[in-house]
Amino acid sequence: MGADPGPRGVERHALSAATMALLYTEGFTSMAVDFTIPEEAKAIRETVRQFVQAECIPAEQELHAGRPYKEVLSTLRGKARAQGLWCPFIPKEYGGMALGPLANALVQMELGESHLGALALNTQGPDDATMLTLLTYGTPDQKERFLKPLLNGEKRICYSMTEKAAGADATGMQTRAIRDGDNWVINGEKWFSSAASVADIALVMAKTSPDAPRHKQFSTFLVELPNPGYDIVRDIQTMAIEGPLSHILGGGHAEVKIKDLVVPHANLLGGEGEGFNMGQHRLAYGRLRHGMHNVAMAQRALDMATKRVLERSTFGKPLSERQGVQWMLADCATEIYIARLMLMHIAYKAEKGLDLRQENHIAKVYLANMVHKVVDTAIQLHGALGYSQDLPLARWYTGIRSQRLVDGPDEVHRWTVGRNLLKAYQQFGTTASACGGDLL
Ligand SMILES: Cc1cc2nc3c(=O)[nH]c(=O)nc-3n(C[C@H](O)[C@H](O)[C@H](O)COP(=O)(O)OP(=O)(O)OC[C@H]3O[C@@H](n4cnc5c(N)ncnc54)[C@H](O)[C@@H]3O)c2cc1C
Repeated sequence: MGADPGPRGVERHALSAATMALLYTEGFTSMAVDFTIPEEAKAIRETVRQFVQAECIPAEQELHAGRPYKEVLSTLRGKARAQGLWCPFIPKEYGGMALGPLANALVQMELGESHLGALALNTQGPDDATMLTLLTYGTPDQKERFLKPLLNGEKRICYSMTEKAAGADATGMQTRAIRDGDNWVINGEKWFSSAASVADIALVMAKTSPDAPRHKQFSTFLVELPNPGYDIVRDIQTMAIEGPLSHILGGGHAEVKIKDLVVPHANLLGGEGEGFNMGQHRLAYGRLRHGMHNVAMAQRALDMATKRVLERSTFGKPLSERQGVQWMLADCATEIYIARLMLMHIAYKAEKGLDLRQENHIAKVYLANMVHKVVDTAIQLHGALGYSQDLPLARWYTGIRSQRLVDGPDEVHRWTVGRNLLKAYQQFGTTASACGGDLL
């Protein structure tokens, strides 16, 4: 028994001949991952890296010194566009750089080092994921009226799905839209609509067909702001440390009252009953972008920690010479390395048009926890200075706690991952295909 190990050491006796054939042909050998990064992708990553280091990070200081936000951003965007850096994954005919998933991942992993990076290239959340949705589902008229100004950086858009009544299970949404001739009338409430207070457009999800199957009950509407029917009650105070600029940069997270909001039928996006499916399409990219920016933030935090331990001595020795400290750095390096590999693998699958849903769920959870761990370690190694607001670490730390909640909380993703493992085992006699087995 076990003398003839199958793929990844799975004993052949555990698998049927048909399953083995599948794993060897489709499941394993034909999906080997290719880590070759094309020269153009390397070049664009380098250009973006230099742009972030030479322009965005210094511009953060200008903001702190009091230079007006609009001026700083407009200068940065001018410089970015002059180098051809704009809307990385948007097709050329829409004014973007038309980067594929791999090149985009490399670029986003640089942009996240500065909170001005994504904004400078007009690829900030939540706008970017909604641009994708509009590109895929928008009518020509909707693209002209709503997508174009977003791509030009003239307008911003927020996404209003979550309600106090329902978040992780969005199908519990209560906001209702009723057809009235050429219009829809929407009533209800929304909660945690990021960037609503700086947005010119809101993408609002509401129940349109209560008798349809659960995932077909909701539709999405493009709402022009400001609008008397979409009342921003407040930006919710969160645990994140907020400076005077954070609401301008991120736009806060709004609580919204929706009362007799009239929306033309022409503003229904993607068809009646398609709201939920489109929301998942949108969130799938959003999750990955968060993760890519998390890698960049973790990298910057680890660099700060490493610089600090090289400069700081305690008990007669530089901190960097303590093995315990080196282990702390090493643990962070391990997590960042795994995170990069995960994203590269997912980007590779996206390039090849392969199913990446399981990897997306796994990576979403891992990347959110990874950045938390690395920033926490960086704070620890900076001592009280790390805890102070003289450095950005404390702000990052309180901000990224949300990563384990947004775009679906950890537990819901882990639940899906777990179910997929069970299904894989039942189908193949091994869970390998649901935990990176196709890497081999
Ligand atoms: C900073 C921030 C920004 C956000 N931006 C937006 C936005 O722009 N637009 C928008 O529409 N929404 C936004 N959200 C909302 C976000 O998507 C929801 O918070 C998230 O989906 C969780 O929903 P909830 O908060 O209602 O938690 P709940 O649904 O009440 O869940 C609470 C907890 O229960 C546990 N749980 C839930 N389901 C399960 C399960 N099946 N198994 C095990 N445990 C489970 C999890 O631990 C979860 O955290 C944002 C949230 C935050 C914090």
